[in-house]
Amino acid sequence: MLDVVDVGKRSLATYRGVAPDAQLDALSHCAERLRGARCLHLSATPYGGGVSEILRSLVPLYNDLGIVTDWKLIHGDEAFFQVTKRIHNGLQGAPGELTESEKAIYLANSQLNARRLISDSEDYDFIFVHDPQPAALAALSGNRDARWIWRCHIDTSRPNPSFWELLSPYLLDYDAAIFTLPEFIPPALPIRNVRVHAPAIDPLSPKNHPLPEPLARDVLEWIGIRTHRPLVTQVSRFDRWKDPLGVVRAYQRVRPHVPDLQLALVGSLALDDPEGWEVYEELRAATRHDGLIHVLTNLVGVGNIEVNALQARSEVVVQKSLREGFGLVVSEALWKGTPVVGGRTGGIPLQLPEGTGGVLVDTEEECAEALLHLLRQPDEAHLLGERGREHVRQHFLMPRLLLDHLRLLDAMSS
Ligand code: UDP
Repeated sequence: MLDVVDVGKRSLATYRGVAPDAQLDALSHCAERLRGARCLHLSATPYGGGVSEILRSLVPLYNDLGIVTDWKLIHGDEAFFQVTKRIHNGLQGAPGELTESEKAIYLANSQLNARRLISDSEDYDFIFVHDPQPAALAALSGNRDARWIWRCHIDTSRPNPSFWELLSPYLLDYDAAIFTLPEFIPPALPIRNVRVHAPAIDPLSPKNHPLPEPLARDVLEWIGIRTHRPLVTQVSRFDRWKDPLGVVRAYQRVRPHVPDLQLALVGSLALDDPEGWEVYEELRAATRHDGLIHVLTNLVGVGNIEVNALQARSEVVVQKSLREGFGLVVSEALWKGTPVVGGRTGGIPLQLPEGTGGVLVDTEEECAEALLHLLRQPDEAHLLGERGREHVRQHFLMPRLLLDHLRLLDAMSS
């Protein structure tokens, strides 16, 4: 059996007054036609990273609308997640090739998971498969009763061919695919029904709910941040594509001009992310002697509330990614009115259109310049943050994403 993730109960009605009315009205309307349908979301990890963040909010909302929905996890040993991390990187264009034994590990684990899925013997109408880790299950489970949807959250615009050749035969069994941006759709995708859905954040989750100011301050003091000093933060998995060491170097350029500036680098170490541990160690080594750089992780209790307080109370949030799927952290910061300096890649420009939300950068130098500029011009920074918040309200809150999903399911039912 596959493990079921236990999600709480949510009510769409509580989003009234937070998300746009038009989206909420359209959702109720669309859900009427899908009531009673059964839906499964399959992913690799229950925490750490954007997919789990989204499913934790989305799955209870499906259920609230009368679409009976489960979220299940595939199993995998360490070797499997080493291989899937390599596949993840290769699909985003990293060089290299999979060895025969790595391919065998991927296949063997996928076959085991396919058997587990079959033994659950539940009748789903729709099965969403998130990212490459569980992607082979549509083909290997042999289940043709459900409609299968591959939801690819990463930038597969220029996949390394050796990794793409492994994955693409398994995609033949999908009925639809969803990408974050049109440019992420790989040139030789063997799926005809393709949609583009931007991800979204949950404005009512503990991470994004407004925190009373004194509580936010106490939370930060508790984890070692000096709240009377300015703060710049990057929150992301410890992943080379997120360039945490580049953030440290950009910060070091700014520091001579703002000597009491603090940097918080927050990262979660996820089950399916062995590389994260390596990057974490490198980061620790590079920052050990600087008392104003805080490297914080889920392992020392930095969770949703702490991330919330950091994003809300930082002068500027950075997301200096070199390659990015969407970057939920950008919308999370903007939703709190905090301006963002973001790498010009993947979904980040979608969240930071000209004059809204912050500044896009291509290099460490530009990142340092933009940080310094926003630190020195708090009024401009505030205005950018406020515009960013409104942009997020219109485009990147959970009801909009749910509506995109239901419209797809509705179209696939007819
Ligand atoms: N996140 C977190 N703690 C961390 C690092 C990340 O809670 O230490 C969350 C972050 O707030 C966001 C998600 O994980 O909700 C990361 O999603 P994003 O789309 O930014 O990146 P991904 O990890 O999917 O590449």
